[in-house]
Amino acid sequence: MKLIFLGPPGAGKGTQAVGVSAHLGVPHISTGDMFRMAIKNQTPTGLEAKRYLDAGQLVPDSVTIAMVRERLGMDDCANGYLLDGFPRTVDQAIALDQISAPDTVIDIFVPDERLQSRLTGRRVCGKCQGTFHISKLDDEHTCPICGGELYQRNDDKPETIATRLQAYHEQTEPLIDYYKGNDKRRVVEENRLKTVDGDCKPEDVFKAILATLE
Ligand code: AMP
Repeated sequence: MKLIFLGPPGAGKGTQAVGVSAHLGVPHISTGDMFRMAIKNQTPTGLEAKRYLDAGQLVPDSVTIAMVRERLGMDDCANGYLLDGFPRTVDQAIALDQISAPDTVIDIFVPDERLQSRLTGRRVCGKCQGTFHISKLDDEHTCPICGGELYQRNDDKPETIATRLQAYHEQTEPLIDYYKGNDKRRVVEENRLKTVDGDCKPEDVFKAILATLE
């Protein structure tokens, strides 16, 4: 199965992708995680991407598409993939349809007013990459799963969140129409979009996603 999770930053795409990719037996590919890893390892892609991540802006399509093309060519993607955070522009979606077209696109919908607190309260484990909300943590510095140290992503600071939400609405939201088959540049005609309510408990979102896939 070739699956995409669409939705604004803070919708819970990453959290859901961990469980759903394990359930389906396909790799979870997060372009945000790939960029953060590239920045940490100071690769050429990382050095180019850093200023965009710091500013909450999208990394240019040429860089992002090349990185995803290489990743989808790896052996573990032979039976499909779950992409989280890609595509984020119509040009990326067109490129993906030409590389390896997704079967289903799940839009995880959460209203803007709920996203701000989800993002400012998000903490990530430096060791296992798990994400948690501070309201659910006894100790906001320690990962409840592996004991690793939790940190706040640079781009989860309030000043960057507004830019990220603006980028979502301007550049990524048009993908909803693209995957409905309504964009005149479409490569695939059929409606591949399904919407799931993301504004509820993670376990209920998980169940709704699995029900949508059946
Ligand atoms: P995420 O972890 O998905 O919230 O992504 C973090 C940041 O990585 C984004 O704000 C962008 O700067 C960059 N990024 C991730 N995926 C993409 C993409 N598909 N296109 C462009 N930039 C991306």
